[in-house]
Amino acid sequence: MEATRIQLDAADIPTHWYNVVADLPTPPAPPLGGDGKPATPEQMGAIFPGAILEQEMSAQRWIEIPREVREIYRLWRPSPLVRAVRLEQALGTPAKIFFKYEGVSPAGSHKPNSAVPQAFYNKQAGIKRLTTETGAGQWGSSISFAGQMFGLEVRVYMVKVSYDQKPYRRLMMQTWGAEVYPSPSPLTETGRRLLAENPDNEGSLGIAISEAVEEAAGRADTNYTLGSVLNHVAMHQTIIGLEAKKQFDKIGLYPDIVIGPCGGGSSFAGIAFPFLADKAAGDKRAQALRCIAVEPSSCPTLTKGKYAYDFGDASGFTPLMRMYTLGHDFMPPGIHAGGLRYHGASPLVSQLLHDGLIEAAAVQQLGTFEAGVQFARTEGIIPAPESCHAIRQAIDEALKCKATGEARTILFNLTGHGHFDMSSYERYLSGKLENYDYPAEAVAASLDHLPKLG
Ligand SMILES: *Cc1c(COP(=O)(O)O)cnc(C)c1O
Repeated sequence: MEATRIQLDAADIPTHWYNVVADLPTPPAPPLGGDGKPATPEQMGAIFPGAILEQEMSAQRWIEIPREVREIYRLWRPSPLVRAVRLEQALGTPAKIFFKYEGVSPAGSHKPNSAVPQAFYNKQAGIKRLTTETGAGQWGSSISFAGQMFGLEVRVYMVKVSYDQKPYRRLMMQTWGAEVYPSPSPLTETGRRLLAENPDNEGSLGIAISEAVEEAAGRADTNYTLGSVLNHVAMHQTIIGLEAKKQFDKIGLYPDIVIGPCGGGSSFAGIAFPFLADKAAGDKRAQALRCIAVEPSSCPTLTKGKYAYDFGDASGFTPLMRMYTLGHDFMPPGIHAGGLRYHGASPLVSQLLHDGLIEAAAVQQLGTFEAGVQFARTEGIIPAPESCHAIRQAIDEALKCKATGEARTILFNLTGHGHFDMSSYERYLSGKLENYDYPAEAVAASLDHLPKLG
């Protein structure tokens, strides 16, 4: 019988991350400061260490993973690549479906892949405290874990709607020694202003980022960490796709379709970019490759957003980045995939989409949970609601194969498990979960507020 679970040895953990910037047809648009001029390293140096800034601006194709980081990666890496044979059978598809399972990390998702190097480089730079934001709690728990590995204090601003929905995520962070506050909070100017306007503000990732950046910019011993969007985060996540390529090599297969959920875009970048490297290098197997980023239709950044310069946060503290955006003050509906409620997307993912090198798709909430439950009942693993977006798309692609008889090889990123998302599953199983329409008016209103340049 063919192996369904393709394992690598610890010695096979990649030694370098892949930087897609080296292979882009055109150089990336630079981040801009408030004055409309390219942001200087000095401006960003208030909240990031030099090593991270260097990676953020680098065009070098391969960047070495520090030994200290690889040692911590070994706690859960290499992660398994699994063929979803029982799901294939249930669908009656000729397609081969594989998933790369990132839920085996301590925090239960792909996010520690970047949290660990970010904590490491900050420790090396003499920083004592880290601030960050978290949506569903995945990034907050990842940086809490990573901070603890290197003896750093961590303060997390957690989007209020998730703080209330996910008490166990908060407790994970506290178990790893972090302080956690619901955002908007009274601790920052941004938070105080928003609470004065509306004490019931449910928060958003954009607001929480503003709070964490505000605090880091105001303290010399404190830096800020971001769990997605930025180039260095996307690059750290390429460990996922680089391992997957080694695993496919072992069984002599290559994917035709690579699928990932897309919030800020880091895990999608992580699984897709290493395959795009093959395409750029002229590898014949990759020439017809399709890479699909999947987002919620209620927060449709890539499929309905505008490709423009915008802030990464709600208050305009971050540099302007050229990306697909729904407008920095867009407030997404309270869907259960908290990690996908973000108004923007990685500039690198955005550029690749704009240049036609990848695709994007949007799916409705109910369909994602239907796919997640089918996956749990065939493959056993209960997926995070974010991951369910990729599963929905993978199932739909497999069903297309069934209709046409094509035996495609599909790879999707199972970015995390859903063990702390069971209240969302409860709503789905009891029939209380609903779809949200695309909030066209709210998007139009916030796109009206895009910063005017020049
Ligand atoms: C955060 C998260 C995502 C989305 O974030 P990206 O930066 O787009 O990867 C997807 N899946 C899980 C499980 C997450 O925690």
